[in-house]
Amino acid sequence: MSKKDKKYQKIVPAEKRERAMIEGILEGSPDGIGVVVIRLECGCRKMAAVSKSGDPASGVIIYRDNAESICDKCKEDNGDFMRVRESFIHWVEPVPSQEKQQEINIKVLGSQSVN
Ligand SMILES: [Zn+2]
Repeated sequence: MSKKDKKYQKIVPAEKRERAMIEGILEGSPDGIGVVVIRLECGCRKMAAVSKSGDPASGVIIYRDNAESICDKCKEDNGDFMRVRESFIHWVEPVPSQEKQQEINIKVLGSQSVN
């Protein structure tokens, strides 16, 4: 058995601009223990804080880098799940246990195992 198969825990770091958004969301969501970041294939982003029970702790924010508004496609379908390129949760320190992370991941993002 090799150790290369660590696919269950793919760590995607938040980009700099995403981090700024994440901080803003968390400031307004005292119950948030993390922020769900959804990158859509069109380049827009969807984000929402999540509570320790895996429930939404803020409204969903959708935005587009360097743009006044989101793209026409997103205006139409509100960032449909079909167009998600990547999704992950940015955890607040102290980061919850693996089990807890997994549990919330499944609750929030579904049991989709990427790749
Ligand atoms: Zn878009």
